[in-house]
Amino acid sequence: MTRFLRAAVCLATLFAGVADALAQAPIAYALSFPDRDHRLMDVDMTLGDLPAMPLQLLMSRASPGRYALHDFAKNVFDLRVMDAEGRSLAVAHVNPHEWDVAQHGPQVRVHYRIFGDRIDGTYLAVDATHAHINMPSALMWVRGLEQRPATVHFEPPPGSGWRVATQLMPGTDAFTFTAPSLQYLMDSPSEFSAFSLRTFPVADGGRTPTFRLAVHHTGTDAELDSLTRDVERMVREARNVFGEFPAYEGNTYTFIADWLPWASGDGMEHRNSTIITSTSSIRGNRADLLDAMSHEFFHSWNVERIRPKSLEPFNFEDQNMSGELWLAEGFTNYYGPLVLERAGLTTLEDFAFAMGSAINTVLNSPARQFRTAEEISQMAPFVDAATSIDRTDFENTYISYYTWGSAIALGLDLSLREQTDQRVTLDDFMRALWRKYGKPGGLIPGYVDHPYTIDDVRRTLGEVAGNTAFADDFFRHYIEGHEVVDYERLLDRAGLVLRRTDASRPWIGVRFQDAQGARIAAAAPFGSPAYRAGLDRDDVIVALGNAAVPDSATLTRVLGAYRPGQQVSVTFDRRGQRATTLMTVGSDPHVDVVPVEAIGRQLADAQRRFREAWLSSAARNTF
Ligand SMILES: [Zn+2]
Repeated sequence: MTRFLRAAVCLATLFAGVADALAQAPIAYALSFPDRDHRLMDVDMTLGDLPAMPLQLLMSRASPGRYALHDFAKNVFDLRVMDAEGRSLAVAHVNPHEWDVAQHGPQVRVHYRIFGDRIDGTYLAVDATHAHINMPSALMWVRGLEQRPATVHFEPPPGSGWRVATQLMPGTDAFTFTAPSLQYLMDSPSEFSAFSLRTFPVADGGRTPTFRLAVHHTGTDAELDSLTRDVERMVREARNVFGEFPAYEGNTYTFIADWLPWASGDGMEHRNSTIITSTSSIRGNRADLLDAMSHEFFHSWNVERIRPKSLEPFNFEDQNMSGELWLAEGFTNYYGPLVLERAGLTTLEDFAFAMGSAINTVLNSPARQFRTAEEISQMAPFVDAATSIDRTDFENTYISYYTWGSAIALGLDLSLREQTDQRVTLDDFMRALWRKYGKPGGLIPGYVDHPYTIDDVRRTLGEVAGNTAFADDFFRHYIEGHEVVDYERLLDRAGLVLRRTDASRPWIGVRFQDAQGARIAAAAPFGSPAYRAGLDRDDVIVALGNAAVPDSATLTRVLGAYRPGQQVSVTFDRRGQRATTLMTVGSDPHVDVVPVEAIGRQLADAQRRFREAWLSSAARNTF
């Protein structure tokens, strides 16, 4: 077979597979809420054209964009499986998240009820005001039928006025939607409520996608109108990084928000939508809500379409481990505030503060000596909304890949700008990744046909920088190594000062809680004064020198009289024993970043030019 012929046969087989799936009955879900006051949803599934083999019904253990296991099956009850005539079929519960039906005909109906009471990006929440549905937490699926399309009907409670906000495709009526595959269905969280809706179009070459804000909140219409104007500025500015919007399926992108005092704070990205939840409100914390929206929207390029091979396709049955979250999450975490700064929606001080806190964490965390940014990324299954009942030592062995990744993005952006006199920037790198890996898209909505590997990223950086050695070097030292760039020198280019916040302040490295005295609240960082003195979590300090310290406020006051380098004897209680140790007080290593003007220095012309090229808007002119 020639290469051409082989490709033709492959494509034909793939299209035949898709065509077969389309010819078969879609998996039909009907969601109803007769017991919504009690946080319950009723689910009815109708399955047709089933192959003559055991039917395997599954609840997911993982949700796209979330990396820890969640075992959503725990909230399912009252499961019944019936034939087309309504007769019960025998079901075997073969493992915690799978039910098998050995004997069945081509048609099967499944009914179950499910409890859900957590409003965030991962779970199901049902109450009198809404059904907030993250699909993997709520919908069963059938192994082997992952390519079948699905329909989802939302049954509105009488008199509720509920409507549906979702990235699912429109169906036969306002309450019925479709998904082309299981991957797309599971990626399509839906808010079913009497939410407030705002929309705006943005022209983009030949397309004009519509952006929707569906907001379930306790605020006013005027507050939402004003926020929507800011979101439009952010959306236009984010587009300028890549030069175009992705081709959103359905030509719409939907921000779904639940800003309610009884929600849990979260943000979760999806292909054509995002879920943003918060206990706060537009009036209470507009800056944080905008920051979350900017971050999640940037994901519609970076991770949803520019996607690491390690996450494609997403595995709903197990943990999803990726060594590239420093790029997928970390670079997104850099661009979230950067886009807001360029759009004029934050102050330079805010942006500098955000960069300064990331640098501070990365510079001072002991974890950097044990793990690289790549290895930290691979810990996501243990830290991303993960729960464990045993204690961990993550204060010492883990840095968030959001934080370290954003510090790497800042370092790479400034390094590229410095060595090319601003001709090449991180925006160019993101655009190159977009053109090679994101824009080509996927044959089936919900899939990415050209996911990247770490070597692809390294090679692309070399191409964009016009310097392979630079790319290899940057990766070896800062991504696959343990070093950090020279932030002080790089930031100075833009007239930003990286400085020790207060090196004269005495510091011992641990924080305290008042629990029968001043109790050390978390693991002592490796190498800190407390660590070297042999102190650690749960030790209760009762005296410093001759001064008794009955509580943490007294401890802070007494410690404040010492100077860095001085020694102090520490008397402490540990698990029933009293002991004394000698501790050398350290100097506070905390750093921050401020504009030179803020500390009374002059901004040089070269610094002003550098800063403007980096932080000023390319979109402002288009308003
Ligand atoms: Zn993110």
